[in-house]
Amino acid sequence: MSLHDMKEGVRYVCQRCGNCCRWPGEVPVSKAEIQRIATYLEMPESEFIAQYTEVNVQRTRLTLISRPNHECIFLDGIDCRIQAVKPDQCAGFPNRWNFPGWREVCEAVPVPLAPGEVP
Ligand code: SF4
Ligand code: SF4
Repeated sequence: MSLHDMKEGVRYVCQRCGNCCRWPGEVPVSKAEIQRIATYLEMPESEFIAQYTEVNVQRTRLTLISRPNHECIFLDGIDCRIQAVKPDQCAGFPNRWNFPGWREVCEAVPVPLAPGEVP
């Protein structure tokens, strides 16, 4: 996935506005992510799948359930209940993937990279 509106030599630090957990969209979870999150929540994988995932509209993969207002089922106020083990898609935004216009909806701030650091 390509990157947009990025300055050179910085990484963007999340300000925990929670917007990316609220806008409509899918958060896919792989087998490894399911295993990781279920372990963190101390529940069997089958129970995690039943309680927290759904099949996406295209019926091609499992995604985290969205509440009727579109927010992620793991959003608790401005906190993520599974922050320590959140899916790669969540961890990768906005430095490893983003979309045109992302800075209008994301409050992450640019911070200079240390020598040798990668975003
Ligand atoms: S939209 Fe940006 S600043 Fe807000 S929670 Fe997501 S990554 Fe962090
Ligand atoms: S898993 Fe956590 S970080 Fe990812 S969308 Fe849900 S609440 Fe946000």
